[in-house]
Amino acid sequence: MANNKKSDHCSFCGRPGNETLMLLQGVEARICERCAEQAYLIIKEELGTRIDEPKKKKNAGSSSLELKKPKEIKSFLDQYVIGQDEAKRTLAVAVYNHYKRISQQVGDDDVEIEKSNMILVGETGTGKTLMARTIAKMLNVPFAIADATVLTEAGYVGEDVENILVRLLQAADYDVAAAEHGIVFIDEIDKIARKSDNPSITRDVSGEGVQQALLKLLEGSVCNVPPQGGRKHPEQKMIPVNTKDILFIAGGAFDGIERIIAARKSTNVIGYSTSADQVLDKSNMLQYLAPADLKKFGLIPEIVGRMPIITHLDPLDEKALKRILTEPKNALVKQFTKLFAMDGIQLTIEDQALDFVVEKSIEFKLGARGLRSIMEAILNDAMFEMPSSENPKQLVITRAYAEEKIAGNTKLAQ
Ligand code: ADP
Repeated sequence: MANNKKSDHCSFCGRPGNETLMLLQGVEARICERCAEQAYLIIKEELGTRIDEPKKKKNAGSSSLELKKPKEIKSFLDQYVIGQDEAKRTLAVAVYNHYKRISQQVGDDDVEIEKSNMILVGETGTGKTLMARTIAKMLNVPFAIADATVLTEAGYVGEDVENILVRLLQAADYDVAAAEHGIVFIDEIDKIARKSDNPSITRDVSGEGVQQALLKLLEGSVCNVPPQGGRKHPEQKMIPVNTKDILFIAGGAFDGIERIIAARKSTNVIGYSTSADQVLDKSNMLQYLAPADLKKFGLIPEIVGRMPIITHLDPLDEKALKRILTEPKNALVKQFTKLFAMDGIQLTIEDQALDFVVEKSIEFKLGARGLRSIMEAILNDAMFEMPSSENPKQLVITRAYAEEKIAGNTKLAQ
C-alpha cells in the first residue's frame, strides 16, 4: 500500500506527490505523510488513550520494561507524593529489585532472586494507594486495587481471592502476559487479621481462612481465573494466570499497632542494658515497625513471610497537607486553576485561605482525603455562577470568602 507515486496528489491536502516524503495509496485515494500524521492526532484526540494500548501492552512484557534506577523511581514518586521519604525509598528499591528479578535470564546461575512483595502501614489517607498507583503509572504496567474486606474463603458469601486477578486482567485488557507482570494493591489487609489476636475485629468470616487463600496468590502459583469474575462455574472457561511475577503491595492502617510496637520496644529495653538509653520517638512509633508486630496484630506468619518488605507512612501534619494542596503535579490548586482558566477566569487562592482549608481538613478528621471536598465546597458557588456571568475574569479566594462558604455548608461537618 505504501509507495511514492510522485505523479499523484494527496487526496486530502492536494499536495503534488513530488513534494511529499511519502504518499500512501488507498483504493481510490492517497494520503501524504503530513495528513496521515494529522489524522493520527485527530483519532488520538477522539478515541483518547485507547489508541495507545497496543504500545502499552508491548511495554508490559518483561524484556521491554524500562528499568529505572531506585533514585529515578523516587524522583518520579516525589512529583506526586508529598513526604513519606522512607516509604518511597523502600518502595523504589523493592520495585527495582522486582523488575530486575523478572528480567534475569532463567538458568543464568543457581541464584534465584525472591519476590519483593511489600506491606505499607500507615493511617488512612496518607498516600498508600497513591504510591502504588504512581509506581504502576511510571512502569506502565497493569494495576489493580483490591479491597481485602470483601474477600472470603472459597465457599463463603463474598469474593474469592481469584477475583483480584480478574481486575488485573481487565486492567490489562485480557492480555495475560501483561497481567502477569502487573501490580496489585491490596487495601485494608489489616481487616483480615486473625480475630483471636485482635479482639477489636468483629467479622464473621474467619480472617485466617482469607489469609490462607491469599497466600496462594502471593506464593506464585497458576490460578484459574473466571474471566468475568464472580463465582467459579464448572461450565465457565477459566484463564490460567501465573502470579509468580505479579508484585503485590498491601496497605493497612493497623489501628493500635503502636501499642504492640511500644510493648516490644520496652521489653527490649529492659532486656538489654545497652539500648536503655535509646530514646524512643513516641509521636511516631510506626518508624520502629517490625514483622513481629504484624504477626502479633494477627497476620499469619506465612503472609508476613511472603510480604517481606515492610515500611510505614507518616501521619500528615499541617505543613504536609498544605504542600499536598499546591505542590504535586496534579495538585488540587492546579486542577481548580485549570478548570477556571478553561472559562477564561483567573483563579487566585490566597495563602491564608489555603491555611483555612488545611485547618478544616484536620478539624473534620478527613486528612488529605478531605482536602478535595473542602475545596469543592468553597468553590462550588463560583463554579456554578461564573461560567454564565457577563464579565468573569478574576476570582480571588480570601480566607474570609472560604470561611463563609464552609459556614454555610452543613454536609462537611458531619
Ligand atoms: P491511603 O493511605 O488510605 O491509601 P490514598 O493514597 O488513597 O490514602 O490518599 C487519598 C488521597 O489523598 C490521594 O488521592 C491524594 O490526593 C491525597 N494524598 C494522601 N497522601 C498524600 C501524599 N503523601 N502526597 C500527596 N497526596 C496525598
